[in-house]
Amino acid sequence: GIRIQTVTKRFGATQVLRGVSLEVAAGEFVALVGPSGCGKSTLMRIVAGIEQPDSGRIMIGAGDVTRLRPGDRDVAMVFQSYALYPHLTVAENIRVPLALRRLNAWQRLPLLGGLLRGTTDANYLMDQDVRRAAEALGLRALLDRRPAQLSGGQRQRVALARAIVRRPAAFLMDEPLSNLDASLRVQTRREIVEIHRQAGAATLYVTHDQSEALTMADRVAVMQGGELLQVATPQAIYADPQDLRVATFIGSPR
Ligand code: ATP
Ligand code: MG
Repeated sequence: GIRIQTVTKRFGATQVLRGVSLEVAAGEFVALVGPSGCGKSTLMRIVAGIEQPDSGRIMIGAGDVTRLRPGDRDVAMVFQSYALYPHLTVAENIRVPLALRRLNAWQRLPLLGGLLRGTTDANYLMDQDVRRAAEALGLRALLDRRPAQLSGGQRQRVALARAIVRRPAAFLMDEPLSNLDASLRVQTRREIVEIHRQAGAATLYVTHDQSEALTMADRVAVMQGGELLQVATPQAIYADPQDLRVATFIGSPR
């Protein structure tokens, strides 16, 4: 699971996180909701290791990862603006985390250079993991295409496939569906929940869409002003909001 322990973060004069603690058990899906600017993405970046907290700890599985680089944490991230390598095929894009995982920092440098120049080749043989991930997201027929030849929804599915290819202990998703149209969003929701279930992972999922939070999540964490106001099942959040601010936020149309 993921354990976030009293994490604080300030940007200049702004205290963005004010001692956030949250546990997501293995197999549990927690939706993180709250008004724009309340600190959701900052918290996600800290769990992912892209940003350092001012204080507090991040545990993933049994280990304290607070000082580990993103590549050394057993997490996969999917964000709203997913960056696919434009010159690599779908299969090669999905394959990237597997290639990076086995290398140390110095070995990664030339590989990343190669990726950026589009000169990698032989290492990207398709393997079981790539096929399994592609299968889970309905991408089998598209493996040889390049990102420019895909729709937005298909690109986002490649980003999801890339996230699951390592079988991480934790998934971090920050509004992964917000670029998709309504019907695709509903379909991809189901795929995400299914991926989460099959992986038995701890998933922390940021969304602006309350129906997503209420239908996908085992528990919903409501954040405001850098604090968690309530963490409870969707039913409890609706039926028994602990705080007027929770009731107001959940009750308001997006
Ligand atoms: P949204 O729902 O709009 O995505 P959010 O809850 O994800 O919002 P954050 O992106 O975490 O909000 O931002 C929280 C606050 O921290 C905002 O006031 C933002 O302007 C500020 N902030 C975020 N990143 C930085 C940064 N690198 N430097 C300075 N301020 C930042
Ligand atoms: Mg955000």
